[in-house]
Amino acid sequence: MLRLFDSVHGDVRDLELRDPSRVSIYVCGPTVYGLPHLGHGRYTLIWDVARRWFTFRGYEVHFVSNITDVDDKIITRAQEEGRTEADIAALCEQQWWDAMDALGVLRPDENPHATGYIEAMVSLIDDFVTRDVGYATSDGIYFDVSNVPDYGLLAGQPLESLRAGARVEANDEKRSPLDFALWKFAKPGEPRWPAPFGEGRPGWHTECVVMSLELLGDGFDLHVGGFDLKFPHHENERAQAVAAGHDFAHHWTHSGWVMVGEEKMSKSLGNFTSLTDLLAQTDPRAYRLLVLRSHYRSPIDVTPETIADAERALERLDALARRFSLPELAIGTPLRSSDFTWDGLAAALFEGVALVLDDDLNTPLAVAQLFEAVSAANAAADRGDDHLARQLAQGLNVLFGALGLPLRRTNHEIDPESGQLAAQRDRARAEKDWGAADRLRGELESRGWIVEDGATGTVLRRA
Ligand SMILES: [Zn+2]
Repeated sequence: MLRLFDSVHGDVRDLELRDPSRVSIYVCGPTVYGLPHLGHGRYTLIWDVARRWFTFRGYEVHFVSNITDVDDKIITRAQEEGRTEADIAALCEQQWWDAMDALGVLRPDENPHATGYIEAMVSLIDDFVTRDVGYATSDGIYFDVSNVPDYGLLAGQPLESLRAGARVEANDEKRSPLDFALWKFAKPGEPRWPAPFGEGRPGWHTECVVMSLELLGDGFDLHVGGFDLKFPHHENERAQAVAAGHDFAHHWTHSGWVMVGEEKMSKSLGNFTSLTDLLAQTDPRAYRLLVLRSHYRSPIDVTPETIADAERALERLDALARRFSLPELAIGTPLRSSDFTWDGLAAALFEGVALVLDDDLNTPLAVAQLFEAVSAANAAADRGDDHLARQLAQGLNVLFGALGLPLRRTNHEIDPESGQLAAQRDRARAEKDWGAADRLRGELESRGWIVEDGATGTVLRRA
């Protein structure tokens, strides 16, 4: 049984799944108007690790994450640069995927774009307007939160106290300062879609409701995002789902901030202005290890020092891979524990790690156990206990791979394209399409890889 912190109840509890063998997850994705930042890297890594771990444990994971490609910030940048909104969104989305591929974050199973769901959003908003749950002001259509009796569930505050604390805005046409925009009427030169209540574009909070319910269905298991999304974004998503009569996400979980300590940043060299910048300067596995070393709900400090420390730790892992000639696992698809044999100490290590990861994804405890096992494997080899040492080393290789952090014997990174080709080859083999598998092997070999068939699929190494 998997356990996770539940933001509504404020405690760690069993993840009660709609279907006991499947986990459906919706992650609020990026608004594509600039380079991805370190916070984007952190939350995508956290949920990538969760997804990989759930798969490793035998669950089928259905993972959906959106792209917000219509937004005020995109419009502002397009106007500043004299380009179209679609241009800016396409450019920034490419930068996003480049960073995700470099980080080893798996692509979502489905990746809906807001602009692809405008019609469904219009119909939801129209229903709200018809029922007076939504109402017009001079600049758009707003959602009247007083229609949702338990509004404030995610904020952890009742409606009355939220209302008392709310900032009174310039727009005094709103019935309550907590009411939020469902639809923004188009100003001259702004992108617009037709709607019975007036041309314009959707507000940010509506797209995820429509897309998550469409792709994952009512009562999906887990809705996640960074802490900053809990209120008002997730509160407002939920309010719309409730008002529309839907059974929305059954669990909500939020992840912590990235600290960069402004002062420290300005004084030291080589700081990271964006995720893209960080990835250009460092081994991308270092950021994953840094993220794994903290609990997902705690803040992390990303500085040249913490990254360098993670890189030194990685060097210990790669030294283990060299010492035991461990195969370099392809991680383009998540590993499954059932594809490996677990004997003796490897089985004990797996059990220990599973105990803490199943319980609210306690990656720092898991990583600590794994590094202790690295020391134990080296010590066993030093005293000539090769069987024991090898058992541990092989278990470590698989368990790090399960977290999306492959050990490398060489300095040769498996580039994202080669990783994709290896994943394609695994799919072709699974479908017994031997012609395609051979062609993909040829392509990989022409990229300088030695292609081997490992227990879980294609293994790439350099000659
Ligand atoms: Zn969302």
